[in-house]
Amino acid sequence: MENCIFCKIANGVIPSATIFENDDVRVIMDINPAAKGHAILLVKKHVANIFELDPDTAGRIFSVVPRVAAAIKKVTGCDGLNILQNNGTAAGQTVFHLHIHFIPRFENDKILMGWKPGSYADGEAAEIAAKIAAEIK
Ligand code: AMP
Ligand code: ZN
Repeated sequence: MENCIFCKIANGVIPSATIFENDDVRVIMDINPAAKGHAILLVKKHVANIFELDPDTAGRIFSVVPRVAAAIKKVTGCDGLNILQNNGTAAGQTVFHLHIHFIPRFENDKILMGWKPGSYADGEAAEIAAKIAAEIK
């Protein structure tokens, strides 16, 4: 993708503060971090979002995630860590090249990332679950 900034960064056309690189991914520091140590994993192949990602590549990509998470935890001393991956503007995606956030978290850090717990009517969860289950390829 010619005009995709994350394609350029992931493939080394634009230099970046790289934490980790292999054939599939490059992990870099986020330029506007939610917390010190906030990193993003960029897929090297242009894939806009999770809906375009094949399961084999997903497996290889995700195998990197616990390794990077452990290193960030060790270095930042964080109490917790969010793995976040946004798909579509409605979900907060702003760069349309698949990436995974690693956000170090500290007790009472005030980073907003939550939802108001909802509820289901009787049988509704099972009904939706069955519909989703039938669509899994
Ligand atoms: P998202 O909202 O999930 O699409 O996240 C995009 C993330 O990319 C944001 O956290 C930005 O701060 C980060 N970002 C955008 N441009 C760059 C860049 N050139 N280098 C590093 N991080 C970037
Ligand atoms: Zn791209």
